Amino acid sequence: MRRFFLTILAVVIATIALLFTAAALGSVSARHAVAMLRPVTGFQQNGPVFQEVLDATAAMAVDRALTQAIGVVEDTFDTEFTRNPEVYLPATLDRFKDFCARRDLLGCVVRGRLFVTPDLVRQPDTRLPVLLTHEAVHLLLLEQLSLMQLAVTPVWFSEGLAEYVSKGPVVDECAIVAEIRDGAGFFPNDTGWLLAFEGPESFGLSLATFYRQAHGFVSFLARRDPAGFVDVLQKYLDGQSVKSAINQGTGALTEALWREWLAGC
Ligand SMILES: [Zn+2]
Repeated sequence: MRRFFLTILAVVIATIALLFTAAALGSVSARHAVAMLRPVTGFQQNGPVFQEVLDATAAMAVDRALTQAIGVVEDTFDTEFTRNPEVYLPATLDRFKDFCARRDLLGCVVRGRLFVTPDLVRQPDTRLPVLLTHEAVHLLLLEQLSLMQLAVTPVWFSEGLAEYVSKGPVVDECAIVAEIRDGAGFFPNDTGWLLAFEGPESFGLSLATFYRQAHGFVSFLARRDPAGFVDVLQKYLDGQSVKSAINQGTGALTEALWREWLAGC
């Protein structure tokens, strides 16, 4: 009997540990935990770029975009990466899904490695630097914050911030507000999914809509009080929770800021 309970306890602890690690590393669901454990083999190095199929032109385009992305992220957070970011290019969409757990992403960060979907590498236009900047934000936070802090960071904040840093402010904030007022919107809870996972599916939103709305709210925070927003980022990097960083940086509670945003259009 005692052995039975110990086995159950071990399974429960192992499951919690796996989910916790997935949450801490910026994953959006439990299936990411499985993808995360996959060994990264079969990639060949070309500078900071690792390819399953060697392609010097693609490696150069990615290297250029990565340098640009690193510059933007380091400037925004007023800090430096302690490790040079590495980009992994799986050869097929199936291989990309092996590491990123879903096909509808353009990139992801797994165990400190930045993976990019093959389609995007074949079209190294402006979208590649934007994607690498978005993922580099996740990478920097992964490098600088504790696992606990990452695990309790709400998804809307990390994705909205990554979108804001990579794409700049949204121009159609009021269109997003109208969409949310109509009932198809997220709500910016202060705590992340270690306590309550709240990603796109929780609000019945597509990935693209959730990202756009989170981007809109973060743009509002930055526009409302630019100096206060810089302060929010610094406090968050210093280890404060999102709730406390927003509260102290802007002087207001997240929920009050949310109501102000919705009422302002
Ligand atoms: Zn992201």
